[in-house]
Amino acid sequence: MRISDLVDDVGRRLMRARNDLALAEYEEDTGRDDLGERRQELLAEIRGILLDPTLCDQVERFLEAGTDHAGSLLTRKALLLHQEMRFAQIECNSELENCRQDLKRCLTKAGVGPMTGSFDSPDPAVRRRSLASLAEAVRGIEQPARVYLRLSNQVAQSAGYPSFADAKLACEETSIEELSSLFRRWRDECLPVWHATRKLMEAQLSAPIEAQDLVWVLTRLRDRMVPLPQAKASRTLLTQLIEPLGISLDTLPMSLSFREFPCAGACYRVDPPTDIRVVVNKNLQGFAAMFYMLHEFGHAYYYAHCPTDSDLLIDRGIVRETMADLWPLLLLNPDVVLRQAPRQQRLAARSPCQAWRSLRLLLYLRDSVFTLELLRSPEQAFSEVWRAVTNECLGIDDASGAFETFDLPNLLDMKNYVLSQRLSDEISRGLIPALSDGPESVEEEIRGMCREANVAPWQKRLLQG
Ligand SMILES: [Zn+2]
Repeated sequence: MRISDLVDDVGRRLMRARNDLALAEYEEDTGRDDLGERRQELLAEIRGILLDPTLCDQVERFLEAGTDHAGSLLTRKALLLHQEMRFAQIECNSELENCRQDLKRCLTKAGVGPMTGSFDSPDPAVRRRSLASLAEAVRGIEQPARVYLRLSNQVAQSAGYPSFADAKLACEETSIEELSSLFRRWRDECLPVWHATRKLMEAQLSAPIEAQDLVWVLTRLRDRMVPLPQAKASRTLLTQLIEPLGISLDTLPMSLSFREFPCAGACYRVDPPTDIRVVVNKNLQGFAAMFYMLHEFGHAYYYAHCPTDSDLLIDRGIVRETMADLWPLLLLNPDVVLRQAPRQQRLAARSPCQAWRSLRLLLYLRDSVFTLELLRSPEQAFSEVWRAVTNECLGIDDASGAFETFDLPNLLDMKNYVLSQRLSDEISRGLIPALSDGPESVEEEIRGMCREANVAPWQKRLLQG
């Protein structure tokens, strides 16, 4: 088979298998409990494609020969396939997979979840107790997590990479150096805003802001941003939210359902561009309802417009999250929400909005730097690393040892959310002025970004300056 036919064939097979997997996940998440085997079959099919040594050799030889024009779509697809295949050798390692499952079981047993709930309490004593009990719960996680981190590095090293972080980031077309430099720059840009916010709040409260208060501060900033309706998640609310862009839900190939759900929501690419399903947690209300509905809508909108003839061109996590985050950042912006209001009111709303964005970014950034640091040197005491990165990213001394665990089983996924926040923030700010020229041009621009998909590395397409 010619290399172009081979790459196209793999692109189509991956597309079909991942769509089928999305359908199985959708059906499982919405109540079916007999699909475990089906899901395993599909995962095995995907692994089979990506771990085929003959295919890997052929693609490698083609790329090395350089007979095709560099920059052609075929070369791009071959390169993306090669990246996926190389990383699959690490990710699908069975020993590592077993170790990951062990760690997940430990996390479930310890009952560690995201830092919400009691951290939102207006009572400082409740928040302090929450931090102490989180510290207690994560203590037992450290050893299994260390075993997993060590093994991740070993498996990556035997595949020819210096470390797991090098392997994972290479597959996402970035590097530890690039990421660290972006993180430093963004931290330095956000820190002055956060310091000012902290000072102001400490003066109002006549008390210091400490580690256990960060989530609560974030919620308070969010609630002060813009006067938004306190409605529950619903189709009507989403319709109203996307209205400034002149988009009608009825014209998009997405089904939207509201139900009891373990998280805020999810989007399933069942058969893009014609069958995309979104589930939203029906109990969400207020800002969370709007934010997550728009986020999942953003995923669905992406799948409705991205290329669908080859899975290789569908963007990876960083850009997929950016395209989802773009919608809430654009449409919940004071300049858009208050576009009919006097200029003074719009300006007044910008400050808490900026404060919220800065703190939110710094919190996610801290979690990502924590993972990078643990991967760099898994032998360190986690509480010490956590304390150092919290100081570095937020200027807060957190000696509690209550470290975040989200990123541990899925190493370096949190950094997608740092990048997506920052990149979507930049894109949305660029789009807001164009809204007054007519919403169609803004929608067209977003559609163009989805259509372009992974034809070039994300830095080239999304990073300014
Ligand atoms: Zn998402």
